[in-house]
Amino acid sequence: MSHHEVIILGAGPAGLGVAASLEGWHPYDNNGKNLLNINTKHLSDNGVRPIAHFRELHHPEDNTPYGSNKFNFKKNRRADWIILSDDAAGGLWNNVPANQLTLGPANWMELSHYPMKQYNCDNKNDINLKEIINKKNLLNYYKKFSTKLKLNDHIYNNHKIISIQKKQNGDFTIYSKFKNIKREFSCRYLVFALGPKSIKRQLGVPGENLDYINNSYTKPQDFPGKNITIIGGGRSSDWAAQELFDNKKNITYIMRQKKENHLRLIRESQFLNYYKRWHEIISNKERNMTILYESKVIRFSKNNQITYENNYKTQTIKSDHVIIEIGGLPNYNLLKNLNLEFHEKYDNYRFQLLQMKVHQHSFESINVENLYACGYLAQGTGLSVIGFHAGSFLISGDILKKLNLLP
Ligand SMILES: Cc1cc2nc3c(=O)[nH]c(=O)nc-3n(C[C@H](O)[C@H](O)[C@H](O)COP(=O)(O)OP(=O)(O)OC[C@H]3O[C@@H](n4cnc5c(N)ncnc54)[C@H](O)[C@@H]3O)c2cc1C
Repeated sequence: MSHHEVIILGAGPAGLGVAASLEGWHPYDNNGKNLLNINTKHLSDNGVRPIAHFRELHHPEDNTPYGSNKFNFKKNRRADWIILSDDAAGGLWNNVPANQLTLGPANWMELSHYPMKQYNCDNKNDINLKEIINKKNLLNYYKKFSTKLKLNDHIYNNHKIISIQKKQNGDFTIYSKFKNIKREFSCRYLVFALGPKSIKRQLGVPGENLDYINNSYTKPQDFPGKNITIIGGGRSSDWAAQELFDNKKNITYIMRQKKENHLRLIRESQFLNYYKRWHEIISNKERNMTILYESKVIRFSKNNQITYENNYKTQTIKSDHVIIEIGGLPNYNLLKNLNLEFHEKYDNYRFQLLQMKVHQHSFESINVENLYACGYLAQGTGLSVIGFHAGSFLISGDILKKLNLLP
């Protein structure tokens, strides 16, 4: 068994932010004050939301240039931390479609310890901070972030977390699978940053595991053949359906939601080019795009047959491939023995998950000492990386205070 003071689960943008501060990269203000020393409980008691306070420091009012922030980072002693994750640095951005674009500007995806402006400068890139950014550039940025801040030696990837237990002495035991071998780790402080989609949703219909069915989409070249059925209705399935349609495929797009809900998403997303394109496709009533609203798949059969129900009628079609993109859920099963409380966070499109109830000054669970929720998984975070990154300072600050590692 390998023991560390802190184990962070997940090498996505959420986990990387905490790791950077634990590695010793602390934010200072212009007067030389270490901002991790702020009494966040005091802020909270005085009606200031601590996460909002740090976000304001990272992203000051719009009258300052994009990419500038009020933090100066200086290196201090590192804490004994590691990350365990199945992906390398960058989290789910390793697996999104090859041409995927973000919904918000590059600046919103930045982690403050290594501003994207600096990344541009170091690598002679010209990423426009006010524009959306593509997967390739964003993933490169997260990878450079972990190289530049010397995090890589402490990121153990290819580790699939399979269970977590709390021991009587208060430490956590984490079991992972690495190349099919079971490994055991323990730690005093556990940061849960496994992301919003660590369990893929399943349709739960017969035949879901047949070999023409795919649970993710990367690029059109992976799908030879003409006819493709896509099941979903959210942004990921919209992306796949459109890209394949524009690559001359014949698409059947099956979704449970009503037409007006899908059209509302398209209408409200016209600031994104691919939703402008959706408007065009639907307005032109394109022949190779059949969208079936209020429909559900009943079963998949051999010989590439898909049976679905639409308008109280059962129909069967044939497709070369099926792509199921129906989202995911945070894997709280891993914490099921800990009696945690959750907060339901739902909006029409993006926030559809349970968040762990946490103290707002530290993001430590209200139920389990030394367990921290990170990223969207903490109650009190907002949308996008800009909405959760500031929470990393609450977590790292609290842990560093407990470890007596704040100068
Ligand atoms: C297609 C798409 C587009 C998006 N666009 C945007 C956008 O424009 N702006 C924005 O801010 N956000 C966007 N997001 C949301 C995205 O969730 C965040 O950008 C960000 O990646 C979340 O960071 P995270 O670190 O919390 O989680 P993740 O990035 O999900 O990282 C968590 C990591 O933990 C790993 N993991 C999970 N379970 C286990 C396990 N059992 N064992 C080991 N490892 C595990 C995951 O595989 C992952 O690598 C988008 C998401 C998708 C899918």
